[in-house]
Amino acid sequence: MLPGFLTEKLKEQYGDISDIIGGYTRKRRTTLRVNTLKSSPEEVAEALTAAGIHFEVSPFSPIAFLLTEATEKEIMALPLFAEGRIYLQSYSSMLPPLVLAPAEGDDILDMAAAPGGKTTQMAAMTGNRASITACERHPIRAEKLKHNLEVQGAGKVFVMVTDARQLDDFFSFGKILLDAPCSGSGTVFADDPNLEKTLTPALVGKCRNTQLALLKKAIRLLKKGGTLVYSTCSILKEENEEIVKAAIKGTGVEITPVELPGTEQLPLLPVTLPGTLCVRPTEEYEGFFVAKLTKM
Ligand code: SAM
Repeated sequence: MLPGFLTEKLKEQYGDISDIIGGYTRKRRTTLRVNTLKSSPEEVAEALTAAGIHFEVSPFSPIAFLLTEATEKEIMALPLFAEGRIYLQSYSSMLPPLVLAPAEGDDILDMAAAPGGKTTQMAAMTGNRASITACERHPIRAEKLKHNLEVQGAGKVFVMVTDARQLDDFFSFGKILLDAPCSGSGTVFADDPNLEKTLTPALVGKCRNTQLALLKKAIRLLKKGGTLVYSTCSILKEENEEIVKAAIKGTGVEITPVELPGTEQLPLLPVTLPGTLCVRPTEEYEGFFVAKLTKM
């Protein structure tokens, strides 16, 4: 059952929330990303077809596949998975690195990195030719991150097991991804019996404090002219637009409109900050927020 406070907040923010509730009640399809450091879309397509697994290619990237029936467990049993030629990753979670657009030679900070879906995606996008610092506060999650980096062949990543809020302002980066810890209000499954216990107003409040502190730190660490992407898997404006608005105030950082090929085909929710993007939870997509910021 959905927590009452969440339903209230969503109604206040969006008005009619029947589509959101519809998305919460459907089991999300399995999606994967082809790891181009180790494979190609053609090779993965061939291996899936040989294994009798049906798939579709996403509207926004040729390396993002949706499996029409197969479960994560079935995919994890394939050699493709063990060899790191694919990464199980939600469609929405692939968007922030695409918006940040890392390139060869970039100096990138991934501020909240474990288990490494987006770190490994950025390593693949740059052919391991960007220097990536991946920061993760929790030691056990950092171990999972290191494991995934190894399996995926993401070689040029330096892992820092630390609270990113404590990073020295001496550091500076041209590109920063802050995929912030959040309430997960975009990934809710309405039939989850524990939802009322886990998704609480206290959690949202705690996340907001961390998100704001992390984003302010990210802005301090961003080079002039640099790009910062802030994302969460929440669809609550208090974890998204309100955090961005509060963090950029008086800093010279501005919102750059998110532009991605295929965006028009994404299920989108209205946003209160023009240029940002909020994906509605559906059978194919998790609810997700992405903002692109530039330091002037
Ligand atoms: N970007 C990851 C990916 O694509 O696989 C998912 C990141 S998850 C949304 C947020 C992560 O931030 C968690 O692993 C959490 O442990 C970590 N985290 C929370 N607070 C942090 C902090 N203050 N500094 C660094 N990492 C933090």
